[in-house]
Amino acid sequence: MTKKCKSCGSCGMSLEKQEDFALGDTAADYCHYCTDSAGKLFPFEKILKMNIAYYMESQGITETAASKMALEYLRSLPAWRSHA
Ligand SMILES: [Zn+2]
Repeated sequence: MTKKCKSCGSCGMSLEKQEDFALGDTAADYCHYCTDSAGKLFPFEKILKMNIAYYMESQGITETAASKMALEYLRSLPAWRSHA
């Protein structure tokens, strides 16, 4: 059985529940972590910092290693593909 699972175009988090989406809107392309209270996507630098902190905490790696991983990962996502 295949279930189409949408994921955040900015951080890659899977959007499963309504509250995972920006503003709780299931038509949104991003998750609530990546958007402000108006549903607007945060700047790349902020998303990057969030991801670095997440990698450091969840994988116990250094900030340098986490930065590299986060940068590579974010660049593969639709929101940042064209980001310099
Ligand atoms: Zn996100």
